[in-house]
Amino acid sequence: MPTTIRHRLLLLAAVLAWLTSGAIVGGGSWRLMAAESQRPVIHYITVNSRKYLRLSEIARFYKCAVSQKITSKEKVLTITNRLGQKVVFTADSVKCTLDGYQVNFCYKVIFRNGDFHLEQTDFTNFLDPILRTQTIPKRKVKTIMLDPGHGGKDQGTEQSGTKEKDLNLLLAKRIRSVLQRRGYTVLMTREKDMDLTLASRSALCAAKKPDLFISLHCNAHSEASVNGIEVWIANPVGVPSYGTTTLGKNLPGTKFHSSNALLAYLTIKSLVKATKAADRGVRRKQLYVISHSPAPSMLVEFGFLSNEAEREKILSAEYQDKLSAALCDAIDQFAKVTAPKPAPGAPPKNHR
Ligand SMILES: [Zn+2]
Repeated sequence: MPTTIRHRLLLLAAVLAWLTSGAIVGGGSWRLMAAESQRPVIHYITVNSRKYLRLSEIARFYKCAVSQKITSKEKVLTITNRLGQKVVFTADSVKCTLDGYQVNFCYKVIFRNGDFHLEQTDFTNFLDPILRTQTIPKRKVKTIMLDPGHGGKDQGTEQSGTKEKDLNLLLAKRIRSVLQRRGYTVLMTREKDMDLTLASRSALCAAKKPDLFISLHCNAHSEASVNGIEVWIANPVGVPSYGTTTLGKNLPGTKFHSSNALLAYLTIKSLVKATKAADRGVRRKQLYVISHSPAPSMLVEFGFLSNEAEREKILSAEYQDKLSAALCDAIDQFAKVTAPKPAPGAPPKNHR
């Protein structure tokens, strides 16, 4: 089959799969039933050798209300389903909001020929699985490895006497307690202040084979005003990391795109909702430990120690409890959505 036709069919299959199914994210469901005869043709354009899907065709078939705001300053497309869930795209930007929470594409949304277009891998590897969660491979989530960032000589950031390595460990222990109370088995890459290379962390992960790997960090910025929460997952091979032109390499842990996308989205949503912290969104980069994990993985930046107000909050037990509970809530939601279906006739049992 000629490559162009094969690509077109593969692309169409991916889009159709999304369009003809329902999905549950958080509290609502996207209703996407469609008869064969109503299946659309989705057009794409090619820019810099990348394929970009026409968003209006997806939205129309999807029976989403579409509103566009086109001014000389910005071009914004909002698609809204019958349940009021909104996805907001902005031309010439990687930023997108999904029910008000920020997810960042690897490529900017393009406005061309009077229409908005989304790069194909941003759709298939990232947005689509969040909207259509039933496409995500089922997997049990029982054992979770927590990785408190830095340690020993590597202090991470240090701000006004607060060392990131210590705070990461403190947060990890709080999160471990909450997860254990909820029935998970928790492994840690370190339980004390010690040197631990990134390769050693990944080797531990490879040896123990947890169901999820979560690296825990606090952030710093040269501008003291910067604050908020970020969740990082690995970007696909050949696709640029957030805010750079560095292309993702072929690393073992970069294949869990759909699981990672949902896990990270549920996490940013849960953390921001619980804390009211600034939402800096889901971002993608092949950071070492999350790119070498043999399980779905993410790296959470709980806030900026370089911002005095945020540092004070993160140092308080009350805020640490909020962060811990919110992260565990997101893991619970992820575990529920991806839980393997019980065998027919099997007695009902708790997935954990
Ligand atoms: Zn760090």
